[in-house]
Amino acid sequence: MKRILYVEDNDDNVYVVTNRLGRAGFTVLVARDGEQGVVMARAEQPDLILMDLRLPVIDGWEATRRIKADESTRHIPVLALSAHAMTGDRARALEAGCDDYDTKPIDLPRLRAKIDALLGARGKDGGA
Ligand code: MN
Repeated sequence: MKRILYVEDNDDNVYVVTNRLGRAGFTVLVARDGEQGVVMARAEQPDLILMDLRLPVIDGWEATRRIKADESTRHIPVLALSAHAMTGDRARALEAGCDDYDTKPIDLPRLRAKIDALLGARGKDGGA
């Protein structure tokens, strides 16, 4: 079963995404700020990180830079998330080392397609 670390400070998004991805067969771990996200990435070694960009303590860009600068976590794909209206976020996210980017409000089928692409599309039930 594939494990996804979701770094998100918004309760509604945590609830919806955790439930939907859980039902799709993923194990979802949640970090509530950027610093906790970096710590959990190291400790938990998830298969993928879903990274909100606007986060308390350290933002998603800085958290991604730290994850990609760390030998033990740089291989983990990071999928950035931010509000649709925030032009420029995508370019900044890719610059910080994010592997892909998607916009909120979250469109689960679209997000799922990006997750599967980053995981190498190893099956529709969250992988082997
Ligand atoms: Mn946020």
